[in-house]
Amino acid sequence: MKAAHFARRLARVHEAMALAGVDALLLSLGADMPWVTGYVAMPLERLTMLVVPAAGQGVPTLVVPELEAPRVSPVPGVFALQPWGETEDPTAIVTSLVSKCAGGSPLLAVSDRAWATFVLRLQATLPGARWRPASEVTARLRAVKDEAEVEALAEASAAADRVAEALLGGQIALVGRTEREVSVEITYRLLAEGHEKVNFAIVASGPNSASPHHEPGERRIAEDEPVVCDFGGTLGGYCSDITRTVFTGHPTPELARIYEVVAEAQASGVMSAQVGELCCGVDDAARRVITEAGYGEYFVHRTGHGIGLEEHEDPYIVAGNSEPLTAGHAFSVEPGVYLPGRYGVRIEDIVVATSRGPRSLNAADHSLTVVDA
Ligand code: ZN
Ligand code: ZN
Ligand code: ZN
Repeated sequence: MKAAHFARRLARVHEAMALAGVDALLLSLGADMPWVTGYVAMPLERLTMLVVPAAGQGVPTLVVPELEAPRVSPVPGVFALQPWGETEDPTAIVTSLVSKCAGGSPLLAVSDRAWATFVLRLQATLPGARWRPASEVTARLRAVKDEAEVEALAEASAAADRVAEALLGGQIALVGRTEREVSVEITYRLLAEGHEKVNFAIVASGPNSASPHHEPGERRIAEDEPVVCDFGGTLGGYCSDITRTVFTGHPTPELARIYEVVAEAQASGVMSAQVGELCCGVDDAARRVITEAGYGEYFVHRTGHGIGLEEHEDPYIVAGNSEPLTAGHAFSVEPGVYLPGRYGVRIEDIVVATSRGPRSLNAADHSLTVVDA
């Protein structure tokens, strides 16, 4: 990311702060701080906090433990660095920065993922302050990806696609191996394809495929069953997330029918993801196909979630979310059908809404695939 990207994001943060009447934004753990500065705080007992005053009230200050300061890449104009020494009190530093830029009863927005330890100390040293979660300022901004972010997401998705293609092509042995062994291989392949870390690698075989978030275990994959593989990681700071369901033998007509219904629902969800369509409309477009096929009660989760620096973020593709899609919204479309105790099918791609229509970032095949592996 170039400095200009961070400067533009800071300008958007300032606008949103003004609209919300927020006097200072206090960012710590979570994805908000890296989104504004490029810096990811270490989740440790020493406080890292970016203090962002309202527009015109001074440059944001990144208060960071002295020993972690060398990890920070400066972004001139976006933030100044204030390292604190081992015997200093970082709460006092943040308190004085806040007092300088805001009045006696400021409205402060603090990272949703900041540790309670630090928030409680700040509440004691800033007794007049009112508090909000930072997501009230940042979530809707972060949901709309800029060009550099869409490219980063596309690269992460392409890397996940290469692993999905290996799975579909039978290069990842399944029959006779445990789910855990396959999960470890997928993890290894995601790293080999360039991810800096793997966030999950679900492998759910046979009856386990009926559990959408199954934890891969010691079950040995047999012939003639579905295997749901849902995996993703972080590449260049941005997340991938893909699901493919493969079969270790020709599925029964019922299972093949369910697969076709899920594939059609997934395509219908993607097609509907036009700028201006509501998030709940995309959920409905996918869900309607499954409901009309008679499996509505077995599609037990929302259709998708936003994705970016975090695996799950705004916008959520769920009934009741009447937020309209904007160019730059990036999210999963991942319908599934799960017959309890029997089997399940899910297909998932990451999609970006653009002015030219929905752009699927994943390209791995959706056809029913019997793998000889
Ligand atoms: Zn999930
Ligand atoms: Zn997934
Ligand atoms: Zn997902």
